[in-house]
Amino acid sequence: MKLPVADSAALRAHTGMLLRRHRGGLGRVLLLHTLAATAGLAGPWLLGRMVDAVARGTTTSFVDQAVLLLVVAVLTQTVLIRYAQRDAMVLGETVFAELREQFLGTVTRLPLSTVERAGTGDLVARTTNDIDRVQHTIRFGVPRVLVTAATIVLTLAAAIAVSWQVAVALLAGVPLLLVTTRWYLKRAAAGYLRESASYARLNGTITESVEGARTVDALGLGRRRRERVDADLREAFEAESYTLRLRTVLFPGVDVSFVLPVVATVLWGAWLVSTGSATVGAVTTIAVYALQVMHPIGELIYWLDEIQVGATSLARIIGVQAVAPDRVARPENRPADEHVVASAVRYAYREGHDVLHGVDLDLGVGERLAVVGPSGAGKSTLGRMLAGIHPPTGGTVTVGDVPLVDLPLDELRGHVALVTQEHHVFVGTLEQNLRLARPDADDAELRRALAAVDADWVDGLPDGLATEVGSGGLELSPAQAQQVALARLVLLDPHTLVLDEATSLLDPRAARHLERSLSAVLEGRTVVAIAHRLHTAHDADRVAVVDAGRITEIGPHDELVAAGGEYAALWRSWHQE
Ligand code: ADP
Repeated sequence: MKLPVADSAALRAHTGMLLRRHRGGLGRVLLLHTLAATAGLAGPWLLGRMVDAVARGTTTSFVDQAVLLLVVAVLTQTVLIRYAQRDAMVLGETVFAELREQFLGTVTRLPLSTVERAGTGDLVARTTNDIDRVQHTIRFGVPRVLVTAATIVLTLAAAIAVSWQVAVALLAGVPLLLVTTRWYLKRAAAGYLRESASYARLNGTITESVEGARTVDALGLGRRRRERVDADLREAFEAESYTLRLRTVLFPGVDVSFVLPVVATVLWGAWLVSTGSATVGAVTTIAVYALQVMHPIGELIYWLDEIQVGATSLARIIGVQAVAPDRVARPENRPADEHVVASAVRYAYREGHDVLHGVDLDLGVGERLAVVGPSGAGKSTLGRMLAGIHPPTGGTVTVGDVPLVDLPLDELRGHVALVTQEHHVFVGTLEQNLRLARPDADDAELRRALAAVDADWVDGLPDGLATEVGSGGLELSPAQAQQVALARLVLLDPHTLVLDEATSLLDPRAARHLERSLSAVLEGRTVVAIAHRLHTAHDADRVAVVDAGRITEIGPHDELVAAGGEYAALWRSWHQE
C-alpha cells in the first residue's frame, strides 16, 4: 500500500488557495518587478534614439543627456530590483514555512496503521527529497516566474510601441519554441513522477536493509538485498535518463529559437530600412530587446521545468493529507467509568488475514491481568487493541461504554496507555521530554513523577530538569530512558495500562530496579501485562492464555494450574527449568 498522491485538481485547488492567501505579497512583488523591468527597457530605447539622432546629425549635449538618462534608468532599476527580490524571497520563505508546518502537522496525525502499512521509506522520501524540491521551487521559482513573465510581456510591448513592423520579426523563434516546449511539457510530469517514485523506493529499500542489518546478516539475505538495491538503482537510473533525454531535446531547441529572432530582426529590419519604413534606430532598439528578452525566456522555461518537478513533489506532499483518519473522535462522549471491555475483537494487518478471531475480555477495575501464550499468538496485537492504538477491524473495545476510537487521542491517553520497550528520548531538555505528557505540569509535579519511578539520578544532573538530553545532549542509559518514559506515564495518569515487554530488553539488574519503578506506577491502576516470563503471571489476579488469535483459557493462576490445561503445562515446564 502506498501513501496517496494528490491529483491535478487537488493540486490546482491547493496552489490556488496558496496564491489567494498571499495575493497581497504577490501583488507587491509583481508591481516592484514590473517597475524594475520598465526601467530596464529605457536602455535600448535610448540607444535607438541616439543612433537615429547621430545618423541625422546632432549635438553632443543631446548625447550627454541621453547617457545621463541611461544612468538614471540603470540606477533606478538596480534599486527596484533590490527591493523586489527581497520581497520575493520573504514571500517564498513565508509560503514554504507554512507548507512545512502544515506537512508536519499532517504527518504527526497520520494513523499509525497507515504509516506501518506504507513503510517508512515513502514518508521519509516525502519529508526529505520532495520537501527539498518544493522548497527550491517556492523560494526561487515562484518569484522568478513572476519576474521573467513581467519582463517578457513588457519587452514585447515596448518593441511593438517602437515599431510594430520591425517587432514582427521577434516572432521568428516562436514556432520552434512552442513545438519543443509543448513536446517536453507533455512528457515531463509523468517522467518526474516516475523519478520521485523510484527514489522513494530506493530510499525504502536502503533504509530497510540498514535498519534490519542484523536480520539480513542472520538470514544470509545480503545477496537478495543487494539485488533489490541494484534493481531500484537501475530503475532510478532509467527514470533519470528519461528526463535527461527530455531536456537534451528541450535545451538545444530553445537555444536555436533564441537566436532566430535576433537574426530575423536584423535582416528584416535592414530591408525595412532600405524601403524607408523603419529607422536604423528602431531596428537597433528592437534587436537589443531581442537579445535582452532571451535571458528571461530561458529562465522562464527553466522554471516551468523546475515547477513541474516541484508540482509532482507538492502532489506527493499534499497527497498525505488525503489519508483517511482511522478514527473520528466524538468529544461529546464521556466514559461513565474506568471499566475497559473488549467484545468480539478482530484485527487484520492485511485484509483477509485475521490475527485476532473475536476476543472477549472484561477487565475489572484495578485488576491485574497477565497475558501469556506462544510467540505470534496475537498478544501484542491484543495489547494494541486494548490501548486503542489501532481501531479493531471487527468488534469494539470500550472504556465506560464509549469505544476507545471515539475518544480524542489526547483524552484516550488519559484513560489507557501502552508501555512498550520502545521509548524515545526527544532532543530537548528533560523537562520538555516530561511535559510532552502534560504540558501544564509544574516543576514540583515533574520532580514527583521522577521520584515515583526512582529516577534519583536526576538530582545529579548538571542542570537538573533543564539538562539537554537525547542525541547531541546527555545520552541516557536504556534504563534511564525507560524511567523517563514511565515518569511521563505518571504525569499522564491513565487508569489502565497495557505493558508489552516493558522491561525485557534490559539487563536483569536494571530490570529489577525498573520493576520497582514500574510497580510504583502500576499502583492502583488496571494493568494488562503481556508476560514473557511466567513469574509475572503468577502474581497477577487473572491469567489469559492467548493462542492463535483467541483467548483459550482465562482465570486465576491457581485455578488454571488446577484445571490442568495449557497454562498448567506451560507452568510445569517453566518450573522444571
Ligand atoms: P505475539 O505478541 O503473541 O508474539 P503478535 O501480536 O505480535 O503476537 O503477532 C500476531 C500475528 O500478527 C503474527 O502472525 C504476526 O506475524 C502478525 N503481525 C504482527 N504485527 C504485524 C504487522 N505490523 N504487520 C503484519 N503482521 C503483523
